[in-house]
Amino acid sequence: MTVHTCHAVGCNEPVDAKLFMCKPHWFTLPSNIREAVWHHYRPGQEKDKRPTLEYLGAARRATTWLEAFRQKKLREWQQHADQNPTLFGF
Ligand SMILES: [Zn+2]
Repeated sequence: MTVHTCHAVGCNEPVDAKLFMCKPHWFTLPSNIREAVWHHYRPGQEKDKRPTLEYLGAARRATTWLEAFRQKKLREWQQHADQNPTLFGF
């Protein structure tokens, strides 16, 4: 059996098969996106590997949102580092 991991881009955190993401990533998502994922989740889909198209759509929105959020944070951090070089020791 393969280990099921978090669906966030670049995250390899092992999570229960019925969970979509690890806790830190999951709770970073806005509640409406989390609700959409749960709304379209069908119990047992992780076993028969047949999630609905609606679920895949919601899942895709979640990973896309999270990736955009990560990029934004990365840019903010980069800007902050550019403006405060001594703060980061370089
Ligand atoms: Zn994760």
